[in-house]
Amino acid sequence: MLHIPFNRPVVIGKEFDYMRQAIVSEHISGDGPFTKKCQAWLEEALGVPKVLLTTSCTHALEMAALLLDIGPGDEVIVPSFTFVSTVNAFVLRGAKPVFIDIRADTLNMDESQLEDLISPKTKAIVPMHYAGVGCEMEAICRIASQHGVPVVEDNAHGLFGKYKGRYLGTFGSLATQSFHETKNFTCGEGGALLINDEQYIERAEIIREKGTNRAQFFRGQVDKYTWRDVGSSYLPSDILAAFLYAQLECRDRIQGTRQRIWDYSAEHLRDWAEANEVDMPFIPSHCEQAYHMFYLLLPSLEERTALIAHLKSQGIQSVFHYLPLHLAPMGRRWGYTEGEFPVTESVAERLVRLPLHNSLSANDLDQIVDAILGSGGILPT
Ligand SMILES: *Cc1c(COP(=O)(O)O)cnc(C)c1O
Repeated sequence: MLHIPFNRPVVIGKEFDYMRQAIVSEHISGDGPFTKKCQAWLEEALGVPKVLLTTSCTHALEMAALLLDIGPGDEVIVPSFTFVSTVNAFVLRGAKPVFIDIRADTLNMDESQLEDLISPKTKAIVPMHYAGVGCEMEAICRIASQHGVPVVEDNAHGLFGKYKGRYLGTFGSLATQSFHETKNFTCGEGGALLINDEQYIERAEIIREKGTNRAQFFRGQVDKYTWRDVGSSYLPSDILAAFLYAQLECRDRIQGTRQRIWDYSAEHLRDWAEANEVDMPFIPSHCEQAYHMFYLLLPSLEERTALIAHLKSQGIQSVFHYLPLHLAPMGRRWGYTEGEFPVTESVAERLVRLPLHNSLSANDLDQIVDAILGSGGILPT
């Protein structure tokens, strides 16, 4: 029986108190007091001009695609090694995904291949900070601005991670966060759009409110609100914002625990990894990671399969991660085939993620480490 699950959602602070407050105060729709608190808290903590809570990171990415007026015939440069939504949000508007391979060290977009992929049709570059370790934002932003192409950071993994001393999510014109149950901070389902380029703020509010200027109306800036633009409904209930706010208040505890687990795993597995030609996450010295994920890169698919099965036999759930999007049935529609992105294809077969969540006990951690050290020669005989 599995007794150490890969993930458990954290409940650590005043989640229930704040949800009760939201309910008792009778503001349970969107943009209530807790939504405003979360937004202001994130703006202050990250130094972002405007944060809008959304129903998910997927929806924040969809808002980004709407804000950038992405349409049929446009191209968007994205890694193939990412979650579906990073790409699908733009495909939904009719864009063609132009996939880029990843670096073998950080597993992030390989910025050295970026320039060659830019065309007059390129309308966005979308780096995703894998495991909350920053992409090479200096090079990416330089190339993007030389070509006048906006950058949208998918920062679902990277809240509070830094690149060269600056928070991830503050580099692109727009950036997105996820508060899904599997992320460091959660409200079950939720997200945020971070707006660094202030020209997008007014329209973002309208797109998020069904295409209306309702937000301006509630601030008393206009005396009635009307249909102004395309849009949809991207506001989370204030009950969810209440849950999230309780978690944001516990930032240091949540991140501190994750950091201790990550450091312990790395420290105790380092020698084993080296002896077995297993790679561990690489954190460049100019990056501060967000402690979203601890993974191992096994030498082969067979060894990964064996390790996952071995851990399972010890009651420990470990999981692989993204399947290359260019080889998915949908990706192949644009003619992508095997062998085009060798690093992505290789990493996708060899990566395994270990449990990393706030309710892992010291004993759980020791069991995980012992199970791996005791896996012996991993290759099935
Ligand atoms: C989790 C995740 C998303 C989607 O987040 P939702 O809030 O579930 O929509 C998008 N991109 C990446 C990289 C993710 O890990």
